[in-house]
Amino acid sequence: FDALEAVTKADDKLTERNGTGKIDMNIAKIFGENCLSIDTLKERLPKSVWKVLKKTIRDNEPLEFDVADAVAVVMKEWATEKGATHYTHWFQPLTGATAEKHDSFITPNQGGGAITQFSGNDLMRGEPDASSFPSGGLRPTFEARGYTAWDPTSPAFIIDNGNGSTLCIPTVFASWKGESLDFKTPLLRSVEALNKQAIRALKLFGEEELTWVNATGGYEQEYFLIDQEYFYRRPDLLTSGRTLFGAKPPRGQELDDHYFGSIPERILSFMFEAEKELYKVGVPVKTRHNEVAPGQFEIAPVFEKANIAADHQQLTMITLKKVARKYGLVCLLHEKPFAGLNGSGKHANWSMVTSKGQNLLEPGDNPHDNRQFLFFFTATLKAVHDYQGLLRASIASAGNDHRLGANEAPPAIISAYVGEQLEDVVQQLKKGEVTGSKDGGLLGLGIPVLPTIPKHAGDRNRTSPFAFTGNKFEFRAVGSEQTVSFPTTILNTIVAGAIDELSTAVENKLSGGADLESALREVFKDTYTEIENILFHGDGYSDDWQKEAEKRGLLNLKSTLDALPQLTDEKNVKLFENYNVLSHRELESRLEIYLEQYFIKLNIEAETTEDIVRTMIVPATIRYLNEVIAVNDRGKTTGLDIASTKTLAEEVNGELANLLKAVDKLREVNEDLGGDTIPEKATHLSKVVLPEMNKVREIADKLEKLVPDDYWPLPSYREMLFVK
Ligand code: ADP
Ligand code: MG
Repeated sequence: FDALEAVTKADDKLTERNGTGKIDMNIAKIFGENCLSIDTLKERLPKSVWKVLKKTIRDNEPLEFDVADAVAVVMKEWATEKGATHYTHWFQPLTGATAEKHDSFITPNQGGGAITQFSGNDLMRGEPDASSFPSGGLRPTFEARGYTAWDPTSPAFIIDNGNGSTLCIPTVFASWKGESLDFKTPLLRSVEALNKQAIRALKLFGEEELTWVNATGGYEQEYFLIDQEYFYRRPDLLTSGRTLFGAKPPRGQELDDHYFGSIPERILSFMFEAEKELYKVGVPVKTRHNEVAPGQFEIAPVFEKANIAADHQQLTMITLKKVARKYGLVCLLHEKPFAGLNGSGKHANWSMVTSKGQNLLEPGDNPHDNRQFLFFFTATLKAVHDYQGLLRASIASAGNDHRLGANEAPPAIISAYVGEQLEDVVQQLKKGEVTGSKDGGLLGLGIPVLPTIPKHAGDRNRTSPFAFTGNKFEFRAVGSEQTVSFPTTILNTIVAGAIDELSTAVENKLSGGADLESALREVFKDTYTEIENILFHGDGYSDDWQKEAEKRGLLNLKSTLDALPQLTDEKNVKLFENYNVLSHRELESRLEIYLEQYFIKLNIEAETTEDIVRTMIVPATIRYLNEVIAVNDRGKTTGLDIASTKTLAEEVNGELANLLKAVDKLREVNEDLGGDTIPEKATHLSKVVLPEMNKVREIADKLEKLVPDDYWPLPSYREMLFVK
């Protein structure tokens, strides 16, 4: 009730805060204001230095060490002008979050004063004592050295929290032995693999002059917002990011009235400010709307080169969380904060772009005739087919287990949807006879004053985990909280592998005397005969699809534990080693870390469940029971007929007994770790502890409907989701 009271005043606070002033949203002025853009570097660097650096930034050429000194001078100048006093190497350790350790520019001088200094060495290399980051066995604690190294392809930026500013320099993070301890290194390596193979393939199509090919990423982010008054009264949200209890409210998302609805005032104010903060650091966010569940929203940017887009995605998550707090809100990024309502995901839109700015997945008006498009399109589908298991593993997490296959997110089976027009082209290619492309046609609405609009050549299918959407693929099964770097790394690598294979096949036919036209025709025909079973256009949520997929021999890796071992599957290890993206040891380390994270997350949830039951729900229930029994007793002395209170007491007491029994059982199984190794522990939690947790919750949720509101210690779903 305190929380409710506070929440209803939130709008007043907002008015107080904003006054009559508006957020200054002069986009031309603020966009990139705190981001060290290529233009600024060019302007400020000596010409000779800029020329060398440009080659690294634009054309992926190796960086020369002496350039760093000159860049460091410019960077420090620019940053101090913007008020920065500190700098940090900003990196992505294997926790999935970002890490920063701040150093000031200060250097004491002999006269007892101080000057600011920042050298090429400071820029290029950092050495955080990294022994507390997960390394999955790559770096025993006695070999604690970890290095961060500047990634010149992703722009530095300044984070200003109102009290001061820090220059953030995107870096990779590796062990003393040069093994990657982060998500950025393999992402950059995978871009390189893709670059190499795509450049080679494009030569087949007469493209000789390209300097690079890069992956592009556009990442849509879903999230929930709730009032902080509720958040701090929910230990489960605090410790595990999701509600471990909560009876279904009488009204959930059934009315479908929230999706794309008018955005509530406070939320809209929050969005403006979050977007402004993102603009400042150069993140091109573009789209905002309400999502399906009450309290759920989405933000999406304009796509960029994958490495930059991935950094910007991290910044987006950080900024959403930070700015929410200013509005008395908390941003929940967990995949499934509320049972019974849609969870949150990320759509990873992906394509490839050349140094001439050409999108390799742009079909044009006549896709059947666009051989180059068909080549890259086919390669992507082949990659998805050949490495379904890897794609599935790239999105496996305890949180995402609540979504995948749960009729609100794509199923755990990986398949691809390409739309009617391209499905038809694929069928033609498979036959080896290509005649034409079906037209999208015009959308006629029968209203003379409205113009007819050209339709897309294919509909959408939101149940597909991997869909072709016009001129890009959309990987829709990514979890809302996870870093996009890993799924993008996997995509880049598997597509590089498929381009490699297809190129070899075509090259062999060419050297056997075939012309390009017939070589391609044969390769496409063979490929689609082999991979056709990955294409699925029906309802991915249906039971029929589960059976059909099994018949087709597609993988159905239902849970994280089923999916993760794919990372060290022999074929997959070979692929990663082939393209120098991740070594066997690096893959093993990731498998270990992901399993460990899975185990730790579930373990925290189980302990929190127990705590909440024993210290909050049981005491509240006893207080209420005590009151009911007291009335019952008083009935006897007053002679009133209150027999019904006895039934009520029995009911409450019965559930209380069930709850105590269930929570004892939960403690028992959670104390037993199930073995000594991480896989054993993870399996134990998934197979034994999780079901007991669910049983506890079920009883507690029944009690929530019996025990009066003013006794119940946790804010309810009804309150958290509907009071804005
Ligand atoms: P929808 O998901 O409704 O189809 P959009 O067409 O606006 O929405 O695209 C969604 C996301 O896809 C946006 O973030 C957009 O920038 C991104 N996107 C568009 N084209 C590409 C591309 N070539 N490569 C990567 N992402 C892209
Ligand atoms: Mg989308």
